[in-house]
Amino acid sequence: MKRIEQHYIGGARTPVTPGGVATIHDAATEAPIAEVMLGTATDAAAAVRAAAGALPAWRALGAAGRAPYLLAIADALEAAASELAQEISREVGMPLKLAQRIQVDAPIAAWRSTASLAQEFDFERTVGNSRIVLEAVGIVAAITPWNYPLHQITAKLAPALLAGCTVVLKPSELAPATTVRLIDAIERARLPAGVVNIVLGGAAVGEALVSHPEVNMLSFTGSTAVGRSIAARAAGDMKRLSLELGGKSAAVVLPGADLARAVKATLASCFLNSGQTCSATTRLIVPRQDYEPCRALLQVAAAAMIVGDPANPETRMGPLLSAAQKQRVRAFIEEGEQAGFEVIAGGSAAPVPATGYFVAPTVFGEVAADSRLATEEVFGPVLAVLCYDTREQAIALANGTPYGLAATVWAATDEDGEAVARQLRAGQVDVNGGRFNPAAPFGGFGLSGVGREGGVFGLEEFLEPKSIQLP
Ligand code: NAD
Repeated sequence: MKRIEQHYIGGARTPVTPGGVATIHDAATEAPIAEVMLGTATDAAAAVRAAAGALPAWRALGAAGRAPYLLAIADALEAAASELAQEISREVGMPLKLAQRIQVDAPIAAWRSTASLAQEFDFERTVGNSRIVLEAVGIVAAITPWNYPLHQITAKLAPALLAGCTVVLKPSELAPATTVRLIDAIERARLPAGVVNIVLGGAAVGEALVSHPEVNMLSFTGSTAVGRSIAARAAGDMKRLSLELGGKSAAVVLPGADLARAVKATLASCFLNSGQTCSATTRLIVPRQDYEPCRALLQVAAAAMIVGDPANPETRMGPLLSAAQKQRVRAFIEEGEQAGFEVIAGGSAAPVPATGYFVAPTVFGEVAADSRLATEEVFGPVLAVLCYDTREQAIALANGTPYGLAATVWAATDEDGEAVARQLRAGQVDVNGGRFNPAAPFGGFGLSGVGREGGVFGLEEFLEPKSIQLP
């Protein structure tokens, strides 16, 4: 079993001050594959010191001087891309082909596209007699989850570095392969010592970073519960905040839309990465008169979802991350069954491989709008179908949770779809299958968070505007 026991602080691999250990299991076989040593507040403080020491020179380098390092990190990650995809697939449970494309290739492309902003973005502007200088925020503590580990790290690290910030990263302790590969890549890219510091650890290290007085900004992706506690702690010294939190995203089908396409795309989104996706469309909101055909389409599409070993190219859905996640998701499914919602597909008794953290892809019909299943994030492959009678009701249902991360609208015309999209409280709305755009801002309304990642908007999160008035 692999032991992961070194931080990366001040340009060197340094031993962890033991604060616990996390055992990582292969999601499909349950075999233990790694032990991650968890650090302490002492380690977090050492990392912040290193980031503070590296800040002046890194800031002075200028964006054009910093961008080549981002490209070098992308190249180094690419050299290990297929190994990393296999490792993430085993840890998180995503089918290997998808993991390669979504978990690894897409973030590597994002390192490169962020580097290209060095040429495209104006770090200085003139407004009347003011010179507006967009300055690096300073020391960033980045805290990330396990479900798309490289993607979430990249969405913070790449723009923070381009902006001229130095970073202490505390990645999820539950998906450590990415951390190990990233340390290798940073070394190979010869990033100046202290510009990126990576601390192994869990909540204790996270909390130490959140309350460290020298940290200027907290960039967090994870659960709404932890995001809330971080926001409360950050208030004391007014740290800048970027919070990418949970979701309960809706797919709204309007009368006359292509129902078959809408159902197929909604299930693909809901079951992607076994439902362990913050922006998954987990509520399908359909006209009541379309419920019967919709149910038939859902049954066919769910049956085609081959569940099994993520390494098998036939597999469409793998296991969940861990026994704890499996238990959590099964509890939601059992609650839906006890509430008497129609089980259109899957359910707690549906067959799944006996070994591995598998849960059957499950669809509940005519779910009550105020139930937990319709309003809370499950973070597993569970779709709730809700019916409506009027367009106003459809919009109210879509907006009827405290979250607001993503949504999709399926309409007879793109124009009508856009009209409804404008009425939804969600940070990203796809109309009639509009593709994901990595340069567009990603983030949430309400309990889905604060701030945006991606492209220019993601870069601006790490910049403080300073106005210098000239005579
Ligand atoms: P989590 O909140 O449990 O953990 C996220 C990170 O925070 C981990 O690194 C963890 O070690 C750390 N942490 C835990 N407690 C902490 C504390 N008290 N102080 C500081 N740090 C702490 O989330 P998770 O289970 O890793 O990820 C799943 C969640 O992330 C889901 O809710 C999902 O919706 C959300 N998510 C959101 C987005 C987005 O962009 N909006 C993307 C992916 C995941």
